[in-house]
Amino acid sequence: MQELASPELIAKYEPVIGLEVHCQLATRTKIFCGCPTSFGAPPNTNVCPTCLALPGALPVLSREAVELAIKGSLALNCAVNPVSQFARKNYFYPDSPKGYQISQYDKPLSEHGFVDIVAGGAPKRVGVTRIHMEDDAGKSQHDGFKDSSRFTYVDLNRSGTPLIEIVSEPDMRTSDEAVAYFAEVKQALEFVGVSTCDMEKGHLRCDANVSVRVKGAEKFGIRAEVKNLNSFRFLKLAIEYEIARQVAIAESGGRMFQETRLFDPETGQTVGMRSKEDAHDYRYFPEPDLVPLRVGEKWLADVRSTMPELPTVKRKRFIEVYGLSEYDADVLTQSRPIGEYYDAVAIATGDPKTSANWVMGDLTALLNTAGTEIGNSPVTAKSLAELLGLIASGELSGKLAKDVLAKMFESGDTAPAIMEREGLRQISDSGALGAIVDEVVAANPKQVEQYRSGKTAVIGFLVGQVMKQSRGQANPAAVNELLKAKLS
Ligand code: ADP
Ligand code: MG
Ligand code: ZN
Repeated sequence: MQELASPELIAKYEPVIGLEVHCQLATRTKIFCGCPTSFGAPPNTNVCPTCLALPGALPVLSREAVELAIKGSLALNCAVNPVSQFARKNYFYPDSPKGYQISQYDKPLSEHGFVDIVAGGAPKRVGVTRIHMEDDAGKSQHDGFKDSSRFTYVDLNRSGTPLIEIVSEPDMRTSDEAVAYFAEVKQALEFVGVSTCDMEKGHLRCDANVSVRVKGAEKFGIRAEVKNLNSFRFLKLAIEYEIARQVAIAESGGRMFQETRLFDPETGQTVGMRSKEDAHDYRYFPEPDLVPLRVGEKWLADVRSTMPELPTVKRKRFIEVYGLSEYDADVLTQSRPIGEYYDAVAIATGDPKTSANWVMGDLTALLNTAGTEIGNSPVTAKSLAELLGLIASGELSGKLAKDVLAKMFESGDTAPAIMEREGLRQISDSGALGAIVDEVVAANPKQVEQYRSGKTAVIGFLVGQVMKQSRGQANPAAVNELLKAKLS
């Protein structure tokens, strides 16, 4: 049994955490050949001599992959190097047919970035050391380990899929900061369209480097690297387990050694996999089959010009220009589609606050019930803005508008079309309302009496009666006015 330290002991230590995030680029083809990257094809069908590493086959770098990697770099505030270099990282793995990975080593694509996070209420900047490009390996599938027959199948469809690896500075101090950083990186990459970041498909995974040191100590402790975490929850659990394990070792006078560990979701524990290789074990050398990658100013500017507004910038604009609360701005920048949808409604209505309420409230509720993403909303931003315009001009009450929105969502029709069809229109006209008000006053002598004797709260009941008679179409403010005038 692994010994774990108590919270009291853990409190004496400061954890130090750095993450390496691997992200699959959203290209249609692999990084060094034309094979498709599509997920779920029958095993070993998306392959060719290059990604099978047959002798004599040469890699050709995908321009699309480089452009996505540049976009990812810009999204994480990294400086793109004018010249970077691919390098061979040599190691043997059964699902890596070349016997090495083509990665980048001392000349990565980009460096010196940062990610701003908020964890535990405090804003913090986490450094991004570098981003490099590399190819992915295939996949091994282990089968039959529970009985005497043991098989491992190798599927090379994934071999040669383009990845970027984003290496952070060891700047994080809690598991919550690590989760916030990972979430922020994911959101930025999704926004920019660098990757689908689908964690279930392994498009985004991270390795957590964790060490502990006595609080106040200057030197970092020896780290363990927990590989391949593919959910926020596992990242948090793995880091917390590591902290407790490492503190227990330190407290018992034991020594840490640098190692690679695996997280087991079933037990919530990490287990040692191998002692960690040092860079020299990989015998890195420049990839002889690829020329250095040159990203000139013109190319960089072209890619930069295709960048959308980044989530942090959008969030700030929603707060400063639209006057939204931090919470609302946060919700409305969770994904690029919701941000763009809301922006379009706010611009069309000129009323950012009301637009925010409807997008976050009624529309989101309808989307959730239907299990639909906002990108596929049957009510377009333009139609929602039109509906809000009808409320502003007094043609629809807020309550009627809710019903109309639900019908718009169902049918895909516009608000005017539905109002026409259903004969729905707010009645503000005092002539038409006056008749109903008279009827209600005549039918409810008891309440009228109460009102006149000073129990003015009873007016709510009378307004309700008028609303009922008008099938919800009366303008409540106008009814209130009319009733007061009539009863006084
Ligand atoms: P390697 O290839 O050996 O994993 P990298 O440079 O790619 O090395 O990544 C090292 C990662 O470990 C970085 O994210 C870095 O911030 C982090 N790191 C380095 N030293 C420590 C430490 N003592 N404790 C925790 N994390 C560390
Ligand atoms: Mg590593
Ligand atoms: Zn191929």
